[in-house]
Amino acid sequence: MNIKKNILDASQKELEQYCVGNGFKKYGAEQVMRWIYSGRIFDFSAMSDISKQLREKLDDDFYVVFPKIIDTKYENDDNGNSKKYLIKLEDGGIIESVLLTHKNRKTLCVSSQIGCRMGCVYCETSGMGFFRNLTSGEIISQLFTVENDTGERITNIVFMGMGEPLDNIDEVGKSLDIISNDKFIGIAPRKITISTCGLLNILGHFDINDYKYKLAISLNASDNKTRNMLMPVNKRFPIEKIIELINLKKPSLHNKITIEYVLIKGVNDAAEDAKRIINMFSPAKVKFNLIPLNKAENSIYLKRYEKSEDTAAYNFKLKLLKAGFTVTVRFSKAGSINGGCGQLKAQTINS
Ligand code: SF4
Repeated sequence: MNIKKNILDASQKELEQYCVGNGFKKYGAEQVMRWIYSGRIFDFSAMSDISKQLREKLDDDFYVVFPKIIDTKYENDDNGNSKKYLIKLEDGGIIESVLLTHKNRKTLCVSSQIGCRMGCVYCETSGMGFFRNLTSGEIISQLFTVENDTGERITNIVFMGMGEPLDNIDEVGKSLDIISNDKFIGIAPRKITISTCGLLNILGHFDINDYKYKLAISLNASDNKTRNMLMPVNKRFPIEKIIELINLKKPSLHNKITIEYVLIKGVNDAAEDAKRIINMFSPAKVKFNLIPLNKAENSIYLKRYEKSEDTAAYNFKLKLLKAGFTVTVRFSKAGSINGGCGQLKAQTINS
């Protein structure tokens, strides 16, 4: 029996091999992918410039499936709005995506895994454990699912949803090839951010000065003792290794590395912490993204931790600004809709 596959999981190279292997021209792969990814046409029979034989063969061997939206939370204010999606995949696995709209910018925060094995103690996803990696098609179809819901195209992508993207580098890489290819989805690499907890064994394969996507690294502590406690990955790749990597980067006005820092009351938000991280980095190479800890209502995973007091967060930010760093505060809008990674899923599972 012929088992059909989801065509969204195929790379351009795989589809080219398929076309050639079945007696069609290699270019047929690009034509099909243009219809799907650029045209958002998912019915093979509607792909009018493709031969009838290839369309029929594709129909025999492939299908297109989109995940289903099973819950949403929405919030808006003067600066824009946030909509969080709880999405059910074909095999029943559940992930989250968050759409952040600010003026004309529609940024989609995508998941790369179901659960996560990195074990960060401030993270709801971590508390659920790890189930599996997402396929490239499951990563890309988060974009199609949200576009179908809103009727508007996504302009920016951040890999900051459930999962550690570098722990699923093959499928994430495959999805990036399609998302950033201007013949296909065509979101420019400078509008795509990969956020990592610091898997330096994977990051080390890339030339930090040549890496075309934007990079964000979660630091979350100013000393190894605290970072070991918050992020087990620090035992393998401690703070000095992150500093070493960033020191390799040439100063850049437009492509600084983002240092993410979740502010946790009494754990990492003291004036001393700010002073230490100011001494670690150069404003010419990095910028900071401060993230108030975002606890889900009735969180079963984050009982021990509280978000920093407003004054502590404000003072922390001020110190970084005075030292010449660019500082933003991320996802604060999504706080009231449980906008941190894994939180909508955690809330749904617990209700
Ligand atoms: S913060 Fe990111 S890397 Fe850490 S456990 Fe959560 S999803 Fe994984």
